[in-house]
Amino acid sequence: SDWKYQILNSGRPKSRNGFRVLVTGAAGFVGMHVSTALRQRGDGVVGLDNFNGYYEKSLKRARENLLKSKGVFIVEGDINDGVLLTNLFKLVKFTHVMHLAAQAGVRYAMKNPASYVHSNIGGFVSLLEVCKSMNPQPAIVWASSSSVYGLNKKVPFSEMDRTDNPSSLYAATKKAGEAIAHTYNHIHGLSITGLRFFTVYGPWGRPDMAYFFFTRDMLKGKQVSVFEGRNGFTVSRDFTYIDDIVKGCLGALDTATKSTGSGGVKKGPAQLRIYNLGNTSPVPVSKLVNILEKLLKVKANKVVLPMPANGDVLFTHANISLASRELGYKPTTDLQSGLKKFVAWYLDYYKPSGKKSSA
Ligand code: NAD
Repeated sequence: SDWKYQILNSGRPKSRNGFRVLVTGAAGFVGMHVSTALRQRGDGVVGLDNFNGYYEKSLKRARENLLKSKGVFIVEGDINDGVLLTNLFKLVKFTHVMHLAAQAGVRYAMKNPASYVHSNIGGFVSLLEVCKSMNPQPAIVWASSSSVYGLNKKVPFSEMDRTDNPSSLYAATKKAGEAIAHTYNHIHGLSITGLRFFTVYGPWGRPDMAYFFFTRDMLKGKQVSVFEGRNGFTVSRDFTYIDDIVKGCLGALDTATKSTGSGGVKKGPAQLRIYNLGNTSPVPVSKLVNILEKLLKVKANKVVLPMPANGDVLFTHANISLASRELGYKPTTDLQSGLKKFVAWYLDYYKPSGKKSSA
């Protein structure tokens, strides 16, 4: 097939440091940024994505074009396709897997629960089954989510806190992923690092997230619904800028200690780790709207509502001392400056003259 031909013909993805990384969900928001950063530092990168239609496909294709221009191979396929994964692993002999493919989004789980089970549970198991049978085995870093803290009231959230009260099917599948990671580490000796991302935002972001559709709707003069609170609690998020998350991902890949027998990777016992990657600075959603009003120079036509029980948690707030100690993770971008970069990207990408639309 086309990708096999391409990869073989180019003498496999070029790596300057011995890292050959499979990035699943590479045409996604975080996947695109992580793939670009890995490529930039000289790693060999192959991206896998099924280009599903959960949100505008044209955005995923635009990310793909950008990745291709940077020397990232993109294979179109599903992580549930074990034959495709096995062929890909045999061909490229990945040292690492950055697993970001998932059905994301909390509210959509009420509409299409099966897609969460398919990608976040079935797909993860399918990927781990292939990883487990490779010799040497690749080290795996994957995206869990702050949503596993569910309805916890004690903040900031730290990795040892309870995660047994998920408030959405999305959260439940991420929590299941953490249990599955434990099993594959325990039985098959796979090295697996889970990263609990906290509300990631930035250029090339996801259209289903509030900062993104607030921007779109505010520019169109449409009404924006702001869920301000429930039961006396203010709705807030520990918004984390994409570049900070990318540094955390690269730190986790570098710290993975499973021996893979090829250059650049430290030898050591298989590890099972979990880290918060947040910003340690939660912001109320109403403040998010205020910042956007200033950046977009428009007044939001907003309606303030109590938070419905639609799966969203009330607040998130990360304790990041573990990631900072063990991965060298240190977020440096505040919401105001990060949103400024997002807005600049948004206005450029959806230029009124251009063909793309944010419908
Ligand atoms: P995204 O939806 O932009 O990216 C996910 C990509 O995976 C998409 O391009 C999609 O087409 C692909 N994909 C989905 N199912 C697939 C399958 N079965 N096979 C192959 N490809 C598949 O989401 P994102 O924001 O980039 O999130 C990346 C990861 O981080 C996800 O695991 C998500 O759950 C997690 N996460 C994200 C956030 C955030 O705020 N963005 C927060 C917590 C966790």
